[in-house]
This record gives sequence, structure tokens and C-alpha cells, in this order.
Amino acid sequence: MLEIEGATHRYGELTALDNVSLSARQGEFLTILGESGSGKTTLLRVISGLEQPTEVGKLMIGGENVVGVPPSRRNCTTVFQSYALFPHMSVAENIAYGLVVRGISRDDARKQASKALETVRLPGFEDRRVSQLSGGQKQRVAIARAIVTRPAVLLLDEPLGALDERLRLNMQNELTDLQRQLKTTFVYITHSQEEALAMSDRIVLMRSGRIEQLGTPSELFDLPTSTFAAEFMGFENLLPGVARSVDGNLVSVALSGGSPVVGIAANPAGISQGDLVTIAIRAERLSHSDVSRKQCRHLNTLAGTKIDQRYRGKYSDLDIETAAGKLKVRTWDNASLPEEISSVSWRAEDCIVLPTAANRKT
Ligand code: ADP
Ligand code: MG
Repeated sequence: MLEIEGATHRYGELTALDNVSLSARQGEFLTILGESGSGKTTLLRVISGLEQPTEVGKLMIGGENVVGVPPSRRNCTTVFQSYALFPHMSVAENIAYGLVVRGISRDDARKQASKALETVRLPGFEDRRVSQLSGGQKQRVAIARAIVTRPAVLLLDEPLGALDERLRLNMQNELTDLQRQLKTTFVYITHSQEEALAMSDRIVLMRSGRIEQLGTPSELFDLPTSTFAAEFMGFENLLPGVARSVDGNLVSVALSGGSPVVGIAANPAGISQGDLVTIAIRAERLSHSDVSRKQCRHLNTLAGTKIDQRYRGKYSDLDIETAAGKLKVRTWDNASLPEEISSVSWRAEDCIVLPTAANRKT
């Protein structure tokens, strides 16, 4: 449905998009995730045709080669965070505009606009003025306007960014429902990992104009391939170490202080014995043991002492000092927090072994 190969875009000296290739299937919800300035909007503008890329090997939308094709002739539409509605037109006129421009009669266009309004749950809003709408309603109208022309690909640039938290969560669900109903390919930009995880079939994590990792939400969440991806996806604990041996996807690591641990690697071929590595563990995947409970539940155990504890309501966060460095532990068991802690432990599958940037060949 969407295919891009080797897209590069420069603004003067600055490379905003660096040799990006990706594709999206028919009916797929693909999310472009990344921090501000990572090139997300530039990628969307290259797809929609608002930006002419400096270089591109291939750009196909809905089976058509669109290199050099103007935006209005591409089978895609964009929904912006700023809504970009025409203030002097009614809701129905805003939605029907794209159809009228394409030569569809005003009557037919209005009928289709009414149907699109029903789809975005705003039936009966045809004659409202844009100024009479709330932020959430404006965004629904913008979405109705984008889907009314039945594009092969819908591009959405942080469409929920201007909405408050509760409305944003509701709209997340509505958008994924809408996407399943329409079976249109969605390319959705966000800087929020929670939003990406909740909505997407696949996530493209961008970093400085390049694709850092592309995969399903659970692949990005549970098996990051780089320290950057691990940090972005919220791994609280990153510790340096040296690879001792690699066996399948299991990697044995000596942490600083000498403690041996075992973890898994997304890409074990990229790690050799003696390489500097980083292990990444989520705070909630660590278990703590008090002095009375010497038995460790998991494969990896480090001696440690509690240096701080913060009550967060639903859970508590502990800081544990170990020979390998400080570890953050999150526990939901507020009721039985021990006074003292003697060790921290975790399973090998919750311990992600990553090549340290300095080892990387690229
Ligand atoms: P994102 O949407 O991920 O925040 P952008 O694609 O907007 O990132 O920007 C990527 C980089 O390109 C940033 O460094 C940004 O400052 C730069 N940039 C974006 N648009 C322009 C422009 N029109 N002229 C010059 N630099 C730009
Ligand atoms: Mg942007």
C-alpha cells in the first residue's frame, strides 16, 4: 500500500531524513515514533508530496509510483495537529471541499460529508461553524474531511497532541476502531511511546532522521535492539558489562564488579566474546529479597542494599545499590515492603543484552 526506498531529505546542511526505507501493508496501523526533531514530519511530508525529497529510490502509494506527482494527485490525505480547517466554512463545507474540488456534485458531496460525520461520531453537525466546535470536535471534523475522499493511505501528524489527557485516551481508541472499520492504511506520528504501543500494528522508531528499530509493539517493548531504543522505550536500568560467551540468543555477561549474569540479545550475531555490552532491565521486572529470604527466584542475582524508597500510590520505587551500579526496582506489593534488602534478582528473558555503541560497526 505504501512503499518507500532510500528516502533522504536535506534542509541545506541538515540531513532531516537519512536513507529511510519502509513499507506499510493494506489496512496496517503504522506508527512513526521519535523525539522532536527526529524527522517524523519530514518523512510524512515526503510521503504526501509537500516536500520534494533530495533523493528517493522508490515511493509507491496504493500501487502507484508517485515520485514527482503533486500532493493533490497522490492517493493519501494528511490530518494535522492544528486541524487546518477553513474557519469561514461550515462543518459540512469543510468536509465536502475535497470532493467538490474533484468535481463531485454539491448534493452528493454533502451526503458523503454527512456519512463521514456519522463515522467520526458527530451526526447532525453539518451546519455548525468551525468556531462553535471544541478541540476534540475540530479534530473529528479534520479526520472526517481526510477520510471522505477514501484515500489509500491516511497520514496523521500528532493529531491528538493538542487534546487534554482524557480526551486523548478516548480518541486513541476511537481512531483505532475507525481504522479497523475503514481498513485504510494509517501512518501515524507520535512522540509518545504509550500511544504508539496502544495503537499500532508496527512501530518505526526514528532517531536523527534514521530508522533505529522497526517492529511490533511487543518487539520494541520487550526486545529493543539498541541502548537508544531501550532508553526510549522506558527501560530504567542500563548497566555496562563485557560479553563472556554467546549461546544461541543467550549471552553471558560480566558486569562491573565481576558479577556474572545471563541475558538475551535481539541480535546475538552482533555480539562477540569480549565486546563491551549494556544490559537493560525494566524496574518492574526486578525482584528484591529481604535478609530472611536468601533463596533467589531467578537466574540472575546481585547483592544489594536499599538506599531510597518512594511511595507512588499504586506502587513503590526502590533504589538499590549493587557492586555493578544502582538499580531501580518497582514493586506493586506496597504492603510487604521489607525494611532491609539483601539482593535483587531477575530472569534471563527480562535482561536484554545490547551492543555498546562503541562496538557498533556502522
Ligand atoms: P519531527 O517531526 O520529528 O519533530 P521534523 O521532521 O519536523 O522532526 O524535523 C527534522 C529536522 O529538520 C529538525 O532538525 C528540524 O529543525 C529540521 N527542519 C524541519 N523543517 C525544516 C525546514 N522547513 N527548514 C529547515 N529545517 C527544517
Ligand atoms: Mg513533527
